[in-house]
Amino acid sequence: MASGSCACRYIRYTTSIPPGKMINCHCVECRKQSGAPYQAWVFFPADAIQWTVKPTEWRSSDTAGRSFCPRCGSTMTMYLDKNLPETGVAAGTMDDDDDDDDGKTVVPRPAAHIFLGEKASWFEVPDDGAERFQGWTS
Ligand SMILES: [Zn+2]
Ligand SMILES: [Zn+2]
Repeated sequence: MASGSCACRYIRYTTSIPPGKMINCHCVECRKQSGAPYQAWVFFPADAIQWTVKPTEWRSSDTAGRSFCPRCGSTMTMYLDKNLPETGVAAGTMDDDDDDDDGKTVVPRPAAHIFLGEKASWFEVPDDGAERFQGWTS
């Protein structure tokens, strides 16, 4: 299954099932929190993720929360209150097993770019075949 960690390795996780969809979010909160043009999230049922240390949570809006490593600041997760069983894990924290030949799950390819209405003006979305949405998924 999938595994990953923050940058300093204080927080590690494994998952009991393969990753779901990868969604690249271009909203302002994701951009500011990641410090990058967008944040890639991979979705898992919350109870499918086993943490060595629970990341520190904070409220990023009236409808969503996010988490990070308290030692190195790495972005770890986000979740929507209305969709609590699903947790978005920051895709860049996942161990990338693409080169392994041991049967481990491969990190999924992007399925969608969302909140392109808030996209950084200086970033050009790659022609990667993923669906494109101005907002959440419309
Ligand atoms: Zn850390
Ligand atoms: Zn976002």
